[in-house]
Amino acid sequence: MRTTMRRMSERQPRRDALMVTGKRFPVVMVEGQGSVLRDENGKSYLDFVQGWAVNCLGHAPAIVADAAAAQAKRLVHCGPIFYTAPLIDLASLIVDHSCLDRVFFTNCGAEANEGAIKLARKWGQKHRHGAYEIVTMENSFHGRTLATMSASGKPGWDKLFEPKVPGFVKVPLNDLSAVRDAMSNRTVAVMLEPVQGEGGVNLASVEFMQGLRDLARDEGILLIVDEVQTGLGRTGKLFAYEHFGIEPDVMTLGKGIAGGAPLGALVAREEVCCFEPGDQGGTFNGGALVTAIGAAVFREVSRPMFLAKVVRTGEYLTRQLQELAARHGERGVRGRGLLVALALASERATSVVDRAFEAGLLVNAPRPDVLRFMPALNVSEAEVDQMIDILDVVLRETRDA
Ligand code: PLP
Repeated sequence: MRTTMRRMSERQPRRDALMVTGKRFPVVMVEGQGSVLRDENGKSYLDFVQGWAVNCLGHAPAIVADAAAAQAKRLVHCGPIFYTAPLIDLASLIVDHSCLDRVFFTNCGAEANEGAIKLARKWGQKHRHGAYEIVTMENSFHGRTLATMSASGKPGWDKLFEPKVPGFVKVPLNDLSAVRDAMSNRTVAVMLEPVQGEGGVNLASVEFMQGLRDLARDEGILLIVDEVQTGLGRTGKLFAYEHFGIEPDVMTLGKGIAGGAPLGALVAREEVCCFEPGDQGGTFNGGALVTAIGAAVFREVSRPMFLAKVVRTGEYLTRQLQELAARHGERGVRGRGLLVALALASERATSVVDRAFEAGLLVNAPRPDVLRFMPALNVSEAEVDQMIDILDVVLRETRDA
């Protein structure tokens, strides 16, 4: 009672009202436009993180604002027991532009992957004599629910929140014989990111992906690609699996698919869609508001001209970073499209991120010696130049420190 009264009388928004789950910079962000984010003191930041590869059209894009406003005035949500026009529209866009047949919408990437794991287990019960194990990759990241943490190969996570969900076997990325060795009659699927994002931008090789596709087909198991980070244009193709000349059985999406609104998707081949009524669902899944935003974003990103520009800007960013790396004696650059990493010569990525923040640039450090760049997909070359200029100074300062 006393606590309630104190809160009522103080009536001040307090940062310590939030649970601590990770580091936050000590600023309050208030607005953004395109590649620029602004805090409450009016300081601007050139944003090459974009809410962790989420704002694919940058901050406050008219496409998102208009779609949200129009839909919010008609219908925000009516629950998962009805069809709505935006729900059908976005599902159709995804299946018409991919090799897959049906969609289940989720609220985030982890929930999409959780759904993929459930779908694979159900499929294993029906078609593989109860097989349930999924082979996943070391250094992979699939989310923060218990099952997706268990599926992830993030170093250190194996000790967290024990006991884990059983049924995941980890192998090194790009090692096909390790996958073969990990398989047994319990195996139902292989699951991987075409480019490991949180793991430090590690690319699956074409041979590995094609080998996995053949192996999965020969053994009668499922190939699941987690495209939560790589999906919807991030790598210069609408879906990253297209780079490899393969077709997965299941794909998951998230992050950019609604340009900043919370939306994910589980997408699968017709023959794999074996959920029965009651197996999967959720209060908010596929709400009218988020799917309307998603459909507007999808139409923009799937334009061939838009994707061609992502490829060009990605190549430009890579070239500029390569020159920067050479000037500073850093280790090199890797990535695809606008998901790019700079490998540093020393473990100072966190200091670079902190110093860059002070200098008005947002970049991310997924590993102690790796910087990651995931700007808006419509970032300009001039903004890339601006980022390089700031980073040039920051790399020198942090090296000399
Ligand atoms: N899968 C991949 C490849 C990711 O990069 C992420 C998040 O970074 C996730 C899944 C989890 O998505 P979410 O944070 O939306 O649950």
